Amino acid sequence: MAARRTEEKMILMVSAIAVVALLPLAIMRTSFGELEGATVNGLGALVSLALFVYVYRTREIDVAGLCLSLLVMGCLVGNIFSKGVGEVYFLYPTIVAAYFLVKPLYALCLSLFALVLLLPVTWVQLDGLSFAKIYLSLLGCVLFTYAFAKQRNEQRDQLLLSATKDSLTGAGNRREMDRRLAEALQRFERNASPMSLIILDLDKFKQINDTVGHVVGDELLVRVTTILQSRIRVTDDLFRYGGDEFIVLADTADLATGAQLAEDLRALVEADLSISGWQLSISLGVAAYTKGETREAWLKRADEALLESKRLGRNKVVVSESPQPPGPPVLLTP
Ligand code: GH3
Ligand code: MG
Repeated sequence: MAARRTEEKMILMVSAIAVVALLPLAIMRTSFGELEGATVNGLGALVSLALFVYVYRTREIDVAGLCLSLLVMGCLVGNIFSKGVGEVYFLYPTIVAAYFLVKPLYALCLSLFALVLLLPVTWVQLDGLSFAKIYLSLLGCVLFTYAFAKQRNEQRDQLLLSATKDSLTGAGNRREMDRRLAEALQRFERNASPMSLIILDLDKFKQINDTVGHVVGDELLVRVTTILQSRIRVTDDLFRYGGDEFIVLADTADLATGAQLAEDLRALVEADLSISGWQLSISLGVAAYTKGETREAWLKRADEALLESKRLGRNKVVVSESPQPPGPPVLLTP
């Protein structure tokens, strides 16, 4: 099981703190006969406990984060209403904590809503100068925290993109491929749904590079990526394996479906003349995953089929039959 994300840990921590803080309060208030307050505290503790268990088990954070920030913010505003404006200082850390629990825009709206709700009570209880000081500092806290969270999210998205995508073509990179293949194998263990791997390599690409130059060569690589992306399904994955070699991980595709997809890709690339009139072709090897096979063995079978396609004259699809018993790769394209 993958390690828990910071957001998940944050929700678990805040909900656990809420349970520990609210439950004794509810018990104490019951013993003092303050039944109304005790019920509110008890309900808060119960909801927090439910959210803790839900996130701990499902690892889903979107709804739980929103509920928790609403609960904490609501409790705090209620507290200020009942005990007075002195409690407002707890609002500062709560505003910051909201950004760990929900998306920045939700946290911003929630914080601003809390400030609006508190307007009448603070206005009545404070003199003009104190009111202005508290509201300006709260507003500063809300806006700067929002700007910081937005900037952090943008940087995270940028990093994620460069860590998973090939910079020239935008296809998944090698690291992403390793991760997705490992995930696919785990998925197979659970549902045994068929899946196929297609390895493809541009034919005589070095020769093209040497004739028209690397800039057009690069454009061709991008064009081929676009063609491949246009045909595969959203659930399939495309990776640049290196140089002029690509891999398609075709989800839920058995060998026949994988072979048909490979043949479609071959025909699409062959038919495309969009860059400098170049008629490019690709050779492809296909292997369906076989139960118990390692990732390396699966890749090796697809690669051997690709080599066979090159050996047979290129611009062809070759499928690798089941590894048991080991059989020779079979030529598909006539
Ligand atoms: P084959 O049909 O046997 O595959 O012949 P090939 O010439 O394509 O041979 P190979 O696949 O071994 O050569 C890969 C070539 O791809 C070598 C290099 O010139 C070119 N190449 C690799 N990466 C890039 C790149 O990022 N941009 C460009 N323009 N060319 C690249
Ligand atoms: Mg090549």
